[in-house]
Order: sequence, then C-alpha cells, then structure tokens
Amino acid sequence: MEGKKILKQLKPYEQGMQIEEVKEKYNLNKIVKLASNENPFGFSEKAEAYLRNSTHDLSIYPDGYAAELRAELAKKLSVAEDEIVFSAGLDELIQIISRCYLEPGKNAVMADFTFPQYKHQALIEGAEAREIPLAADGSHDLDAMLNAVDAHTAVVWICSPNNPTGRIITREALLTFLEQCPKHVLVVLDEAYYEFVSPEQDIHAIDLLGNYQNLLVMRTFSKAYGLAALRIGYGITSLETARKLNIARGPFNTSSIAQRAARVSLDDAVFIQKVHKENRRIRESFEQFLDTEMAWPYFASETNFVLVETPIDDMDIFQQLLERGFIVRPGAKLGRLGVIRITIGEEAAMEALKEALREIKQNVSQVN
Ligand code: PMP
Repeated sequence: MEGKKILKQLKPYEQGMQIEEVKEKYNLNKIVKLASNENPFGFSEKAEAYLRNSTHDLSIYPDGYAAELRAELAKKLSVAEDEIVFSAGLDELIQIISRCYLEPGKNAVMADFTFPQYKHQALIEGAEAREIPLAADGSHDLDAMLNAVDAHTAVVWICSPNNPTGRIITREALLTFLEQCPKHVLVVLDEAYYEFVSPEQDIHAIDLLGNYQNLLVMRTFSKAYGLAALRIGYGITSLETARKLNIARGPFNTSSIAQRAARVSLDDAVFIQKVHKENRRIRESFEQFLDTEMAWPYFASETNFVLVETPIDDMDIFQQLLERGFIVRPGAKLGRLGVIRITIGEEAAMEALKEALREIKQNVSQVN
C-alpha cells in the first residue's frame, strides 16, 4: 500500500505549538498564541448569538449549495450567485483547484516564499511547482512569474497580501500581468487577508472578474471574520471555472453551522471595521517599536501579522519568546531562516510582547 510516490518526499503539516502544551512544558499560567494569524478580537456578536440561541439539527446534511449564504454574499459582492464556490476554508479550495487543474506534465507558478499549500498540493497532483523569488520588498514579482509561464502552466498562485511577508501587489501590476498571461492559465489571487488591507491599497480585484475569465479571487471567513474553527471560505470566478470546481468539490463540504455563522457575520460590518481599525493601530505601534527600540528590520505589513528579521537564529528567538509565554512562527518552520512571523494580538498582549522583546534584545547585545 504505497500510495503516490511523491508522498515519500512530503510530510504532514506541522502545526505550531498548542497553548496547553506550552503551559505545561514551561510551567507558565498565561500563554499568548501569535503563530497562526488568528483574530484576537474573536468573531461577530451576531454569530455568537446565532450559535448560542439556535437549535442545531445535526442529523440533517447541510445545504450543499449554501443557498442562503450564497445569495447574501453574491449581493454584497455584486457577482452572480453561481460565480461563487464555497469550501471548508481556503485550504480546501486550494486542494480542489489543484485537483481540477494539475496533473503530471503540468506546472503551477508561485512565489518562493508564500503560503505553502500551493506547492504541497501541486506536488501531490504530480505537477511541477515553479517557485519564483519574491521581489525585494516581499511582494510578488509578477514580471518574473509571467516569464515562468509556458504552454504547460495550468495555475498561477498570487498571494496578496502575501503570507508570510504581508506585502501586496498593485492593481496596475495585476492588470499588466492579466493582460499578458495566456488564457489557458487559471490565475488565482489569494486574498485571505483582504479585510486587513488599507482602503487606499485595495486593488478591487473582484471588478476585474468580468474582463478576465481566467481569474479566480479567494477570500475566507477564518481571518478578519474570526471563524477559523468553522472552516469556511470561498472563491469567485467565471461560471465555467466554478462549474469545474464544483465537480471536484465534496457535495456537503461546508457545514450548516459554518454557513449560517458566516451569513450572519456578513451583516456585521461594524465588527469588521473594528477589527480592521484596531489591527492597524496595534500593528503600526508594533512596527514603530521595531523601528525605534529594536532596530530589527521587518516587512511593512498590510495584514494581521508582521515578518521580522532576527539578528540571531530565529529558533533561538522563538525559544526565548516561548519561555516568556509567547508562541510565534519561526522562519525555520516557514521555510526561510532568520525571520519570525508575529501575529498582531490584542493591545495588552502586544505591550507584553514588546517587554519580552526588550529583554531578549538586552540578552542578544550581551552575547554579541
Ligand atoms: N491562504 C493564506 C494566504 C493563508 O494564510 C491561509 C491561512 N493561514 C489560508 C489561505 C487558508 O485559510 P483557511 O483555510 O482558514 O480559509
């Protein structure tokens, strides 16, 4: 029972340390997890009220078409209902896209330092993963990515804002890319962190769907909406692509609870505005701290995380933070050494983190 040959070269996803694990190991009573870009502000009160007050008939399969959520979202985004494909988080949509478009002999083009599932799923399908170095500012080098596209390219993955650098592409760069990219290529724009982007930097990608039939835009309820545990996200694309993806999609892939919680959350614009504003304020304060007190370089972020360059081994900084009760994501686990990715937490947590970093900096300078 060997399975696909490629499985010998891949390993299961290694998740960050869990809170209880760290508490026990280091004998700490308070742990702050800043490792998975989760929303420290929780989720909408409307979703909470729904979860608390409704009776849930768990013996009935969900509506596989997600009709109510679909209608609400289509209205909000001004797209046709059938242009939306729902999935159990974007992780599943990445799988579905790869399953539909990639196979041996095909390739997928992506950045070399981006969300790892694009490569992982391409390899499982037996396709080649073409990894193109990011531009120096941490955004995608779309010209270089275009150069890598050939007759065998089936998918291009553009992550903007990019995880883990937090940097975005411009509308102009995307338009130039779409104009030149051959039409046989599915261009996927992963906007998992869309709601965190400053309004002046919004590239309004959904407006482009009408002109570019080979574009697909992905968004999720896991990040700003704070519903990561419910696993629900979606793609918006042409009717033709949506139809293909729906063939590979499991018939009941999103739960009724997730659909409903997502639907009521869409009505709570105030919550999303609060998350956006608070995240931006706390992130800017943290970035300023990195500039003025730490003098550690970082990528200016449009998301709820910041990628910071560490003056010493990232695993060492990771360990020192862990011992002080902070779980971050070390570069060693992201595929690049000398960096750590820190999720923006609540203000009090970030103030405590600053204090821990001040201490660590002190230790580092004593060592040097
Ligand atoms: N894309 C990006 C860029 C992400 O950072 C994540 C989550 N870490 C995902 C997709 C998957 O998100 P989810 O499955 O929770 O929707």
